[in-house]
Amino acid sequence: MIIPKTREEIELMRESALIVSKTLGLMAKEVKPGVTTLYLDKLAEEFIRDQGAIPGFLGLYDFPNTLCMSPNAQVVHGIPNDIPLEEGDIISIDCGAIKNDFYGDHAYTFPVGEIAPETLQLLKITKESLYIGIRAFKANNRVGDVGYAIQKYCEDHGYGVVRELVGHGLGRTMHEDPEMPNYGKRGRGKKFIEGMTVAIEPMINMGTKNISQLKDGWTILTKDRKPSAHFEHNVALVDGKPELLSTFAYVYEALGIKSDEEDEFRISNTECRMMK
Ligand code: MG
Ligand code: MG
Repeated sequence: MIIPKTREEIELMRESALIVSKTLGLMAKEVKPGVTTLYLDKLAEEFIRDQGAIPGFLGLYDFPNTLCMSPNAQVVHGIPNDIPLEEGDIISIDCGAIKNDFYGDHAYTFPVGEIAPETLQLLKITKESLYIGIRAFKANNRVGDVGYAIQKYCEDHGYGVVRELVGHGLGRTMHEDPEMPNYGKRGRGKKFIEGMTVAIEPMINMGTKNISQLKDGWTILTKDRKPSAHFEHNVALVDGKPELLSTFAYVYEALGIKSDEEDEFRISNTECRMMK
């Protein structure tokens, strides 16, 4: 059952989402060759606790850390370790935080130093597909419309769309109804309702859509070991339109990137408006 939120609850969820956004901003400053994902994980945990929040993933389904850290061929759910990042790597960082009993949950894939042009293109297209998916999250549309939009865009670029892992409703629990696959058929699936809140999160592979899992029981990686990218935002349906609760503004601020990609999805996000 989809659980719609009141305006007040959506504002609380924005608070949780922005703690994650700021954590990803901190990561943007720290990701570089030589840094370990375990070091980044500790930094993130400290930062989240300093905001009066609780790491959302730590202990969830027995996950051992604050961040999911998935380099290169790892799709999602990678466990932080003491292997240093190298020039040319990419690292998908997925972060969750709980504040006021609500979850924030979003993700960004960072290049580590200079990366290959084809990998940069994978990041660009995956992120664009996220916004294309968000655009389809509106009144009278259904779950399949978002999935179709993401799948079409990514497959048109020759990429593989992961099937086994999907976006989801988000709220007082990390995974609420509905599941939000990154593939689907237009007009199919559950109808969107006012006040619902979701995590939209394309997981897109440079090669095959097929995946495998490491023996650690967590790490998902591409079957062909080609790179995979993951971008995730938290979105509420407000007045029939998608409103972003999370933002990459802190990431862009740290990296010196100018972007207006989120502007159309901001209705009342005053904090983000102020940052521009
Ligand atoms: Mg996530
Ligand atoms: Mg998620």
